[in-house]
Amino acid sequence: MIPIEITQGDITLQQTDAIVNAANTALLGGGGVDGAIHRAAGPELLEECRTLGGCPTGEARITKGYRLTARYVIHTVGPVWRGGSRGEDRLLQSCYEKSLGLAASQAIRTLAFPSISTGAYRFPVSRAAGIAVSSVRDYLERAPVIEKVVFVCFSKNDYDIYHEVLKVTESF
Ligand code: ADP
Repeated sequence: MIPIEITQGDITLQQTDAIVNAANTALLGGGGVDGAIHRAAGPELLEECRTLGGCPTGEARITKGYRLTARYVIHTVGPVWRGGSRGEDRLLQSCYEKSLGLAASQAIRTLAFPSISTGAYRFPVSRAAGIAVSSVRDYLERAPVIEKVVFVCFSKNDYDIYHEVLKVTESF
């Protein structure tokens, strides 16, 4: 059984070793989940982010978690949806893979992801959920060092979509 869970709620309250932030290329905070993570972690998080010099789309950077329960925050920059033919799928997949790669390299065992790119960046949620679940499954099959991945959905609608996608992929 691949250790993937889906939950509905606020990612800042997760008790995983690390949480993933859907950041923007400046890494200087923003709205949505990014704003919530910075508020919960406190101002030291922004101070550390300032030292990183930004992050390109599809890549990831790691910081400490400060006032969060999670010891680390992995900041990844999802693609802005521009219709689907500008490499959005591949970039979104890269966000999941790079985040998992960083986690594995830091001996992080449990990790929580938000639904990257599906808020302000307008990536269609069912398509994003398919990419999220298959990227994480493939990675965990290759690198079983990570013991648990939780997808934290903010809305009930997103939760239902992720559940459906996970159910369908598990039946293969
Ligand atoms: P992006 O710019 O990558 O689209 P957003 O933060 O706008 O990022 O949205 C990504 C997802 O995060 C959306 O589904 C949004 O509802 C969700 N979200 C917002 N706040 C939180 C939170 N505190 N915990 C978990 N998910 C959240």
